[in-house]
Parts: sequence; structure tokens; C-alpha cells
Amino acid sequence: MRITIFGSGYVGLVTGTCLADVGHDVVCVDVDADKIARLNRGEIPIYEPGLDAMIAENRDAGRLRFTTDAEEAVRFGKLQFIAVGTPSDEDGSADLKYVLKVAETIAQYMGEYKVVIDKSTVPVGTADKVRDTLRRTLEARGADIDFDVCSNPEFLKEGAAIEDFSKGARIIVGTDSEAVRKAMRECYAPYNRNHEKLMFMDVRSAELTKYAANAMLATKISFMNEIANLAERLGADIEHVRHGIGSDPRIGYHFIYPGCGYGGSCFPKDVKALAQTATNIGYDAQLLGAVESVNLRQKTRLFEKLNQAFDGDLKGKTIALWGLAFKPNTDDMREAPSRELMEALWDSGARVQAFDPEAAGECRRIYGERDDLVLVDRRDDTLEGADALVICTEWKIFRAIDFDNLRQTLRTPVVVDGRNLFDPEIVKDAGLLYYAIGRGESL
Ligand code: NAD
Repeated sequence: MRITIFGSGYVGLVTGTCLADVGHDVVCVDVDADKIARLNRGEIPIYEPGLDAMIAENRDAGRLRFTTDAEEAVRFGKLQFIAVGTPSDEDGSADLKYVLKVAETIAQYMGEYKVVIDKSTVPVGTADKVRDTLRRTLEARGADIDFDVCSNPEFLKEGAAIEDFSKGARIIVGTDSEAVRKAMRECYAPYNRNHEKLMFMDVRSAELTKYAANAMLATKISFMNEIANLAERLGADIEHVRHGIGSDPRIGYHFIYPGCGYGGSCFPKDVKALAQTATNIGYDAQLLGAVESVNLRQKTRLFEKLNQAFDGDLKGKTIALWGLAFKPNTDDMREAPSRELMEALWDSGARVQAFDPEAAGECRRIYGERDDLVLVDRRDDTLEGADALVICTEWKIFRAIDFDNLRQTLRTPVVVDGRNLFDPEIVKDAGLLYYAIGRGESL
């Protein structure tokens, strides 16, 4: 099939590459000329395991192209995927300006029937707005061309995006059109061989499914963080509690890790947007509000723990920081807990020496050169002259540590672990003060 993808970010790039990899002909279009130039030079603008080789192979085979030429791109594909950003507006609702701009562009250049597919995460009712925009723009052109709009939300995770796209549990399509159903079956047939993954439903249910999924996952995290904070004050260990409840198949072990709060480009904005959707229709979504406020508080916990460990005097201290990305296997730092921590440390006069296997470049892009931030290339270089160590991201390389060496290198033996990576007994036996999340500490 001939497929056009608007937006070459995490979702657009992975979607386009994976669809090309199974044999479709794909054009990816983006307004960011620099990004497209880099892609055309064979550079990959994001870190996503396995993506570089897959892009190279499909570009070389002629099945995957990158362009800024929207007209050419619209004319190319029968399927027009919209995979542009939907950031939070001032009131927390999803800002649809990029999505509607793409709808306008498609209608401006289309010369024949197209299926327009919302892959971006968009609030219930967006397909109607996309349809209206297409209709109005076509009318203004005096063109009478048929089209369909459907919802096909994306569930991939950064860091495992290719695997998730190719082997995801479900492919949701919201439509009431038989023509769309047929086209989407054809598009996704290579992923639908082993068992039926395509779930067809009405458009509004498909749009809500994406928000419900992210809100449920965010709820699990905030729930565990709430219990962890209780455990801390009650002298219990959340890790025992986690195993205890996870063993119940009704609860399960997945996604019940306590930590320093969720970040990334999706959970914070999607929980907010769903809450705002509820507000807009006069419904008080109490649980969603609580999920968000628990998370905001949790993101301040690492700083509070450090601050207490140093009796409120962090001025002039050097803090070693492991992990900048909001989670492992990505370079994405959007709403990452590390940012909240670093900014609080800088406000109190401390310096940060940080290491992240992939996100140093992104960190430099966000914060620029500053005296109180040193980014190093090796994990243990962060420890030189550091007063304490804080762990923000559970990259594999942080999991096996020589604690005796850590004790000898740090100026004071303080370790704050936002991901509960270690056995507290082992860390303490090495003579370190260990402050984790919900592990019987009062700090
Ligand atoms: P992103 O910011 O990485 O990429 C968006 C891209 O769209 C940018 O390259 C931007 O230049 C481009 N763009 C903006 N306007 C354009 C236009 N008019 N024409 C062509 N390109 C344009 O965003 P992302 O992380 O890929 O997210 C895209 C959508 O998918 C969002 O709605 C997000 O919520 C959703 N989503 C993201 C993830 C994730 O893990 N990142 C997962 C599932 C769903």
C-alpha cells in the first residue's frame, strides 16, 4: 500500500519504518526541515533501539522516503496518517493545532479519495473536528472529493517501540466505514497473522481507549507511590508489599513499581487532557486529579530526601546523578523526574554531575552550558568529588554496583535511590546511608 505519515517524531518515524519493513511504500513528511535533512543523510534524530538499522535497510530498498514536500506526500498515499504532537494547552487540554493543520494540508492537496487516520493521541470528538476541517478546506477549494476519517491510536512505548508496534497486544481502529475497515485490514495484515489483533469500534470509543489506557497505567504508578509513602512512614518495605500484592492474579506484577514519579511525553499530558475533557462536560473526575497531584508530589521526593540528609544545606554540594531520561532505553527527558530534581538542586546552590547512557545530548539541548551542571561520559566519573549519589532512571548499567568502592569515593556516604534498585541490607552493610522509596525510611 502507499502510505503517508505526517510527523517524523517517535510515533511517526516508528510507524513509517515498521510499515515499510513489512513491504508497504511509505513517505514520511515533517515540517522540521533539519530533521528531514538528517534523516536523508542517514542520521536518526531520536534514540530508539533497532530503529537506525531498520530505517537504513528500508531507505536503501526504496520503500521509505523522507520529505518536507507536503503536496507530494499527500498525493502519494491512499492512507494519510497524522502522527504529530498534541501537547498540553494552557488549561491542560490537548492542543490540536498541529493535528488540524495537517488536516488542512491534506485537504489542500488531495486529488482523490483518502483515508485520514488520527494516530496522535487526541481527545474524544477530534475525528469530527478533523472531518470538519477537511470538509471546509475542500469547500474553499471548490473541490468535491470523498474521504474518510478514522481513529487508530498508538500504544507503543519509547525504548521498545519497534517491538510494541510489531507485536502489540491490539490494533484499535475507530470507524463506521466499511471502506476504512477494509483499508486498515490491508495495512495491518502483516501484523495480524498469528491471531486477530484488530479491534474495530466506533470512533469515540477508540479515542477514549487511548486515554483510558494511559490513565490506568498512570493510576497504577500513583497508587504504588501513595502506598510507598505510607510504607515509609509506617516502617514497612514497599518492595515486600509489591511482591505480596502482585502475586494476586487480579492485581499482577506489571507496572506496580514505586519510584520518583512518572514523566515522559504521554502520561502527564494525557492524564491532564482527560481530566480537562471531564471538566469540559461538567464531570468532576476526582480520581484523575488525584493521580496527577500524587505524581507531582512524588517528583519532589528525591530532593526532599537529599535536602533532609544534608540538614537543609545543599549549598556548594556536588550531587552525582545517574539517569536523566524519564525511563531507560530512551533519550527523552520530557517531564522527567531528573529535571525536577536538578532544578531544585540548582535553586539551593548545589552542583550536578550527571551520567545517562543516551540523554546527555538532550540534557545539553535543554539546559545549555551552565557552571552547576557537568555531564560525563562514564557512570563512575560522576562520583569524583561528589557528596552524594542519586538515581533517577533504572538503566541496566546502574543495577550492579561495587558498594565498597562507592563508599570510598563519595565524600559523604549518601545514596538516594529513586528506583529501588538495591537490597537495603547490602547497601547499608557497605557503610552507606541508603534512602530509597517506601522502604521503611522516615526521610
Ligand atoms: P514528537 O514531538 O516526537 O513528533 C511530532 C513531529 O510532528 C515533530 O517532528 C514535528 O516537527 C512534526 N510536525 C508538527 N506539525 C507538523 C505538520 N504540520 N506536518 C508534518 N509534521 C509536523 O511527537 P511523538 O512523541 O511522536 O507523539 C506524536 C503523537 O503520538 C502525540 O499525540 C503523542 O501523544 C502520541 N503518542 C506518543 C507516544 C510516545 O511514546 N512518544 C506513544 C503513543 C502515542
